[in-house]
Amino acid sequence: MGAKEGFIQFKRETPVTRDPQERVGDYKEIYQPFGEEKLNHQAARCMDCGIPFCHQGCPLGNVIPDFNDAVYQKDWSEAIRILKSTNNFPEFTGRICPAPCEASCVLGINKDPVAIELIEKSIAEKAYELGLIQPNPPKKRTAKHIAVIGSGPAGLAAADQLNQAGHEVTVFEKDAKPGGLLRYGIPDFKLEKWVIDRRIELMKQEGVIFTCGTDVGFNIKAENILRNFDAVVIATGAQQPRELKIKGAELKGVHFAMDFLGRQNQVIGGELDENPISAKGKHVLVIGGGDTGSDCIGTSNRHGAVSVTQLELLPKPPQQRTNLNPWPEWPMTLKTSSSHEEGAERIFSILTKEFIGNEQGEVTGLKLVDIEWVEKDGKMAFEEVQGTERILPCDLAFLAIGYTGPAQNGLLDAFGVQTMENTLPKSKNYQSSNSKVFLAGDMRRGQSLVVWAISEGREAAVRVDEYLMGSSALPQKDESFYQVEDHIAGVD
Ligand SMILES: Cc1cc2nc3c(=O)[nH]c(=O)nc-3n(C[C@H](O)[C@H](O)[C@H](O)COP(=O)(O)OP(=O)(O)OC[C@H]3O[C@@H](n4cnc5c(N)ncnc54)[C@H](O)[C@@H]3O)c2cc1C
Ligand code: SF4
Repeated sequence: MGAKEGFIQFKRETPVTRDPQERVGDYKEIYQPFGEEKLNHQAARCMDCGIPFCHQGCPLGNVIPDFNDAVYQKDWSEAIRILKSTNNFPEFTGRICPAPCEASCVLGINKDPVAIELIEKSIAEKAYELGLIQPNPPKKRTAKHIAVIGSGPAGLAAADQLNQAGHEVTVFEKDAKPGGLLRYGIPDFKLEKWVIDRRIELMKQEGVIFTCGTDVGFNIKAENILRNFDAVVIATGAQQPRELKIKGAELKGVHFAMDFLGRQNQVIGGELDENPISAKGKHVLVIGGGDTGSDCIGTSNRHGAVSVTQLELLPKPPQQRTNLNPWPEWPMTLKTSSSHEEGAERIFSILTKEFIGNEQGEVTGLKLVDIEWVEKDGKMAFEEVQGTERILPCDLAFLAIGYTGPAQNGLLDAFGVQTMENTLPKSKNYQSSNSKVFLAGDMRRGQSLVVWAISEGREAAVRVDEYLMGSSALPQKDESFYQVEDHIAGVD
């Protein structure tokens, strides 16, 4: 373990963020460097618990106390060896994971939890710096060919594992560059894209083939893929946005969040000259109180919006855990993101009623009303608060109210994959109703988190390997893992 009394001696400390006024002037990551001695103190806080609840919190089953100890001992080679054994891309999760491991860290019962995410990111970056992460192609090839469709974290993790198992892996991606929502969803101020490029380069050197700009089902038919490959992994995400079915939603200036965020990332990546949706000088309303909404706030402020207001149907969560939401459950408390700190009004318990437009068909306002949540027949329901209807000025509105599932474009049908009523595909142990086709990530479980996508990609890879070779030596999670309740909040 770390220092014997590290958790008494040292307080939790994480990197200081750049001044909000300064950082809204660019799209760079917001954290300042964190010294090695300070990091050593953070690792020292880990108690090496007899029952490390942090494990249960992490969808990847990261071996957290062991890598904390290696960091405390300054043994970077051992730290990255442990981290790599469960997580293909710690440089991603170390930056953008909501860190369910920290929410279930035992120290969190009565103190601040161990800064696990910071330690994870530091191990990954130190390992790159010291040359401990090098291309490591498999020694033997199996002559089996696998198509991975979609290059988000699920597709990348599946490809990485299957390549390590010696199979020939081709990743098909419809976008210009690989990364999925890591590249075209999550803003640069949370994850700069050189971090993805560095990893893709490594995977290419290890033998993974990337075929970008290829929309499977359009540029290349499913039957061709099924004919030419021994197995297929579909990891095409769940990016079908939920619509807001109110009057005026068709007005100019009302957009799905991803139309704004994706293009902004393309601008920063040099793929697009300017974002056709500009928030400069505008009153922006962000509808939806989740992470996508928060990313719209950060991006709107960087555009120079006059005002940014985030609207949420649900009531304001408490600042602290309630008795009904004890440790080690995921805390249903108020989350204030770095984008909120940069400036936004947040209104909770609000119902959007109608967008108001001008003669040119442009949005000018949003009619809304306060609501009150009440229990009715054992269920929560809302009632409008009389006399609170009003109109907020609005030049630009972003709909960030979640995703309904995979894109409805016939792709699954073309591969002979049956779906359920909720549009998600049927699967058993990551295998679809077509035995040659496996599924992973958001497209299988619905919109979720990067850490879950990596976990899904790894597990699907094991099933593909077993399907092709009869058994698999790839690492996989213990059966008991699946008995643990999935309490992790999704992203909306
Ligand atoms: C704005 C936003 C912010 C988020 N922030 C966070 C965060 O901070 N932390 C976090 O953990 N999670 C976050 N998430 C969620 C996270 O990004 C997703 O859960 C994760 O990326 C899912 O990975 P995936 O590989 O399953 O799918 P995706 O990342 O969606 O990748 C799917 C890929 O498949 C490709 N594809 C689709 N159809 C085809 C086809 N027919 N042919 C070829 N390619 C195809 C797509 O172009 C895409 O590249 C965020 C999501 C959004 C939208
Ligand atoms: S629960 Fe927290 S203190 Fe205990 S082993 Fe895990 S990280 Fe360390």
